[in-house]
Amino acid sequence: MPAYPQQSRLAFAPIETIRLQKEMLLAQHLQQCAQSPFYASTLSKLSRSKRKRISLEVLQDLPLTSKADLERDNMAFLAVDVNKVRDIVQSSGTTGLPTQMMYTARDISRLAYNEAVSFKGCGMKRADRVLLTCTMDRCFVAGYAYCLGAQAVGSATIRSGLNLVEGHASVIGLMHPTFIVGVPSFLRKLGRHLHERGVAPKGIRGLICIGEPLRDTWMKPTALTEELGQLWSAPAFSTYSSSEIVTSFCECEAQQGGHAAPDLGIVEILDKKGRPLKMGETGEIVVTPLGVEGMPLLRFRTGDIGYLMDEPCSCGRKTPRLGPILGRSAQMLKVKGTTFYPATVFEALNGIPEVTEYLLRATSHLGADTLHVDVSLAKDTPEMRQKLESALLARLRVRVGLSIVDEAILRKQVYLPQSRKPIRFLDLRK
Ligand SMILES: [Zn+2]
Repeated sequence: MPAYPQQSRLAFAPIETIRLQKEMLLAQHLQQCAQSPFYASTLSKLSRSKRKRISLEVLQDLPLTSKADLERDNMAFLAVDVNKVRDIVQSSGTTGLPTQMMYTARDISRLAYNEAVSFKGCGMKRADRVLLTCTMDRCFVAGYAYCLGAQAVGSATIRSGLNLVEGHASVIGLMHPTFIVGVPSFLRKLGRHLHERGVAPKGIRGLICIGEPLRDTWMKPTALTEELGQLWSAPAFSTYSSSEIVTSFCECEAQQGGHAAPDLGIVEILDKKGRPLKMGETGEIVVTPLGVEGMPLLRFRTGDIGYLMDEPCSCGRKTPRLGPILGRSAQMLKVKGTTFYPATVFEALNGIPEVTEYLLRATSHLGADTLHVDVSLAKDTPEMRQKLESALLARLRVRVGLSIVDEAILRKQVYLPQSRKPIRFLDLRK
């Protein structure tokens, strides 16, 4: 497999050195993008210039790429001969039509480097044993990438994959992992299961958490995160990426937002009109992954909402950090004039230990959104209902519909057999 040129110390270099490197990598990236039919005409002038460096500011004048562009003409993004493709993954599109991302051997080597540099940042070492509790196949990239990354660190992987808590518990008892990669709410379930069986986990050095945020809007650990810490006696690190951006934003040991390797991607936060926002301002996360060969993308709109922080990090990396994913841009709700994302409701409900499950339903009428929340409680009392109503009102500053529902009924609606993640937000708006 062709080795990807690694610059794993670049994040610690002076800001000017990082900028210079990024500009050189961006020039190469634009030339590679121009090899694909989709970008050929847009970039023909830039790629012909053969400049060794292109100022990062140039990026702001280049077009954005959306999921809809990928859906419309997926193969137009292929920038290499089809015979160079070594792995194809599938991700769900905006209209339900799946899209494909194609990786070359070099891209797979890049994926391994991307995850390895992230995992090393949260303290993973050669002697570690890494339990993977995420989907390893079904055309997803994440599990495969974590596996490659942990092995590139020099650790041993334990590919337990999608499994019941009982299955993972016996693997843990037999193989003694030191790191676990998984969805935080599932790791809580697994941790509780181990404690209930009287086999509290020992020797875990870190939990690498995917798919759900660990911190609230203000970077404070959520109730779920605090419980994870107690259950596993280990820190939880958040990591975020996708099959399109193939650049991971993974928390370092400071646990203060995710750093991305500066040689692997350029991140921007944009407002609704596509204008760049300042540090700390909330908007859509847009990433230009660098060094991709198969399907290189330019300014890919993730549809996820977040913000960047550039205050110095105690780990010494000079790269900005990405805060928690606050929601999907398309999921923004405007209820009685107040704007918020479903994640804000999740945060409020996760903060109440008596809440066992929940499901949000958004509907709209004449342009106004309505939100209804179904909640199941460990113990349903009038005081508990009052506490729930007050917590939601305090967090959202607007009253939303609320029903108490049986947990078993709710779980059937949240955990659908065809989905790998629990679905707690149903968008029924027109
Ligand atoms: Zn850091």
